[in-house]
Amino acid sequence: MIKRSFIKLTGPRLLCDRVEPDPKKPETIPIPPRLVLLLHEPLDSTRETLIKKGDTVKRGERLFLYKESTEYAVSPVSGTITSIASYTGDFGTIATYFIVERDEKDTAVNGFSEFADTPSLKTADDFLRSLPGAPPLSHFTDPDRKINTLVIEGTDSDLMSTTRQYLLKTAKDEISQGIHILRQMTGIPKIAITVPEDAGDGFSAEGVQVLKISQVYPKALPHMVMKDHLEIIPDPGATCEDCGVTFVSVEGIISLARAFAKKELVYDKTLTVIAKDGTRHLVQAVIGTPLHRIFKQFNLQTNEKDRIIIGGPMTGHAAYTLYHPVTPDMDTVQIQDREQIPYVSDYPCINCGKCVRVCPANVPVNLLVRYLEADLYEEAADSFDLTSCIECGLCSYVCTARIPLFQYIRLGKHQLIELETEATNE
Ligand code: SF4
Ligand code: SF4
Repeated sequence: MIKRSFIKLTGPRLLCDRVEPDPKKPETIPIPPRLVLLLHEPLDSTRETLIKKGDTVKRGERLFLYKESTEYAVSPVSGTITSIASYTGDFGTIATYFIVERDEKDTAVNGFSEFADTPSLKTADDFLRSLPGAPPLSHFTDPDRKINTLVIEGTDSDLMSTTRQYLLKTAKDEISQGIHILRQMTGIPKIAITVPEDAGDGFSAEGVQVLKISQVYPKALPHMVMKDHLEIIPDPGATCEDCGVTFVSVEGIISLARAFAKKELVYDKTLTVIAKDGTRHLVQAVIGTPLHRIFKQFNLQTNEKDRIIIGGPMTGHAAYTLYHPVTPDMDTVQIQDREQIPYVSDYPCINCGKCVRVCPANVPVNLLVRYLEADLYEEAADSFDLTSCIECGLCSYVCTARIPLFQYIRLGKHQLIELETEATNE
C-alpha cells in the first residue's frame, strides 16, 4: 500500500461561507404531527420486535428494536408508533425507521435525570447518543481504541453551511460547560477547538487549544485539521480514531451541557437549509422532523428531478425522499434545482491532470479511476491510493471530462470494505 503525504493544494480556491457578524436566531419549525426516527440497525422480518405498530411511546423513551439490541433511537414526543419499516441508505446500507404520531397530551419518561448529577461515560452512552450534534460517546467506551485528543469542530467542514459557526458564536458558556463535563467523564488529556481564523471573537477556555482554520476549502475537514494542526497523518485507510483523535461537532458539546443542566434529554437540532437560489436559512427543528415540513415553512418548492442533498455541496449525499427526517448529525440540507445538478458524463478521462493537481492527499486520481471503473477495488487500494482519499470531492469538481470521480471513490471504498468483510468471514 502506497502512503503519500499531503503536500500541496493547487487549483480552485473555494472559500467556505462565514456566518454573519450579528446572525439572526434560527427559525423554529413547529413540532410536526408525525415524526420519523431512524435507527441504525436492520429490521429482521423473521424476528419479533420489542416495539410494535400501535404501541404508545413517551417523550424521552429509548426505542430498541430487539431485546439484545444496543442501538437505540429516542422519541422526542409522546405518541403512537404507526409504522416500523426498513430504510435503505447510501450504498444499500439498511436501517429501520419508526413513524411516531404525536399525542396532544405530552407524557415523558426521564431515566437520565437520576444520573445527571454525576456525569459518567456509561450514563452518557446509555442515554445521550441521540443528542443533537451526535456526540461520539461510543468512541470513548470502545476498549479497542484509546482516544487521547478531542477536537471540537466550531467550523463547518463543507461550503455554504454556517451551523457550527453560529453555535460557536452564540453559545460560548455552554461550550465551556460541555467541555468541563466531557473532561470529567473521559479524563481526556488534550482538548482542542477549531475556530474560523478570520473570526475576531474565536473562543478561549482554560486548557483548550484553539486551532485557527483557514476559510479555504477543505481545510476544516478532520484529516486536514489532523495534518495542518496536530501534525498527524493517518495511514491510508486509518481513521482519526485509529490515531487516538476524535472529532465532535460543537453542537454535540452544547447538547451535553444542556442535557446535564436541565437533567433531561434535548431534541432541538440546528441546521442550515440552502434553497435553490443559494439563500441560506438557519433552522431549529426537533430530531425526526421530516424535511418537507421545513421546506414548507420557507415556501421552498421541490419539483420532479430536483435533488435534496444532505450535507454540503462538496461532500453531501442525496436523500431519496422528502420524508427523510432531521437526524442528530445533520448540519446542512440543500435543494438543488434539476437544472443546477452538476452534469456528469461517461466520457473517458482526457488526462488533463487537474484532479491530481487539486487533490490534497496527492492521490493519482486519473489512474485510480480507471481501476474503479473496471471494478478492480483491491488493485485500486494497493497501487493507486484509494484509501488515502480524504473525501473532499475536489477531484469531481474540477474534472474536465465531468467523470463522477468522488462517487466512484466512495463506491470503491465501500466495495473494498465489503470484500474485506467477506474475506474475514470466510
Ligand atoms: S475526493 Fe478526490 S481530491 Fe479529494 S482527497 Fe479524494 S481523491 Fe483527492
Ligand atoms: S480531471 Fe478528469 S479528465 Fe482530467 S485527468 Fe482527472 S479524471 Fe482525467
